[in-house]
Amino acid sequence: MAELRLTDVGKSYGSLSVMEHLNLAIHDGEFLVLVGPSGCGKSTLLRMIAGLEEITDGTIAINGRVVNDLPASKRELSMVFQSYALYPHMSVRKNLAFGLQNLKMDRAEIDRRVAEAARVLQIEPLLDRKPRQLSGGQKQRVAIGRSIVREPQLFLFDEPLSNLDAELRVQMRVELAGLYERLKTTMIYVTHDQVEAMTLASRIVVLRAGKIEQVGTPEELYTRPANLFVAGFIGSPK
Ligand code: ADP
Ligand code: MG
Repeated sequence: MAELRLTDVGKSYGSLSVMEHLNLAIHDGEFLVLVGPSGCGKSTLLRMIAGLEEITDGTIAINGRVVNDLPASKRELSMVFQSYALYPHMSVRKNLAFGLQNLKMDRAEIDRRVAEAARVLQIEPLLDRKPRQLSGGQKQRVAIGRSIVREPQLFLFDEPLSNLDAELRVQMRVELAGLYERLKTTMIYVTHDQVEAMTLASRIVVLRAGKIEQVGTPEELYTRPANLFVAGFIGSPK
């Protein structure tokens, strides 16, 4: 279980300020989707939550605990990137287990978690294949599986489907919705696909140049956009 609170979060890269006084509460078990134009700070925000990027101002709290100084490895969350970077020489099973072996987990527990992730993602028949024997969608499922085996309290997704072709994207979107239904883990999901945002989100955050323009349910944003920018963003499919 995980809830997050971002308080007055600011971020600068040298003299470039990309975010100031950002405030946002993320509820336990919600599927929060982050949308906004390229360069508005979506990846930066995820990376700060993950602990991969230092925050310049403010605080990030997970379950009431300020994590500003907590290293990424101790944050009990898992991030899925756009590029799936599987180990090419390892089987799917080994790719799934690899991160856990580094945690000195015992064999039976690793096997249990790998089996569970494979079941949830329906990749059991693929466990003994190598990545080159997988389709793009199957590879991305394995990449998501590598997050699931860690049993994180929080998933962070940075445009995980944007490298897939349109048909696969639709299929994976449905699978992600099913995954969320089964796990009900808190998810923060970045996308620039309006349909993904509208269908997956419990709530959507619209970011523009490091500032939140509006937060609301898909229906709220669609029927009562706060301004023309939000209306344009939610209303016009890309
Ligand atoms: P998004 O994911 O919404 O496209 P990013 O978070 O990647 O946006 O980038 C936000 C802004 O921060 C952009 O202006 C980008 O150029 C800048 N930026 C991102 N990462 C770095 C970095 N490591 N060093 C300097 N500037 C960066
Ligand atoms: Mg990005």
